Amino acid sequence: MLPSDYWEIRNTKKKGRGLFAKKEIPKGTIIGDYLGKVIHPRDAVVDEENFYLMYYHDSAAIVPEIDKPGVHLLNHSCVPNAWLFIYKGHTLAFALRQILKGEELTIPYLLSPKDEFCKPCLHVCKCGHLRCNKTMHLSKDKYDSWRKFNDKWTKITKRERIRYGKDLPLLPIYPEKISEDYIKGVNLLFKIN
Ligand SMILES: [Zn+2]
Repeated sequence: MLPSDYWEIRNTKKKGRGLFAKKEIPKGTIIGDYLGKVIHPRDAVVDEENFYLMYYHDSAAIVPEIDKPGVHLLNHSCVPNAWLFIYKGHTLAFALRQILKGEELTIPYLLSPKDEFCKPCLHVCKCGHLRCNKTMHLSKDKYDSWRKFNDKWTKITKRERIRYGKDLPLLPIYPEKISEDYIKGVNLLFKIN
């Protein structure tokens, strides 16, 4: 996680708590690693209260400690200023562009297309952006192209071993910045900036 002089937790009007920049965060900067307890996806319960849960990959999900500050506090936006990058199997949040002091840090939740399990759907978006899609689910086309792009980049580094029921440990070393090629690819795919 970026040192705490970079961010603060504040309450938002419609989305519960959120992370806000206390000073400028340069483009490509890693904001934090999505940490928590590793569980098998079949043991995952996703409802309004367990909304923090994050799929790690097909065989593991992460349950964060909700009382601790972390990447799990990042709210979704349809036009986010931060994004996710899979590095050695870890999900890192990073600044997709320069983030200014006072801005809320937001990521896309990149949910798979709405299916019959999402009824009633809890993933209604309230980001308030002019280009808000009103949902955190991606369309099938967008989701498929995101998967393809993400898979290609995910394979560049090898997953660290995981242990069910244990906390995901910090990596010994993190990249200094996220590659410009990756950022360009995201912008090309989602036309954010
Ligand atoms: Zn939205």
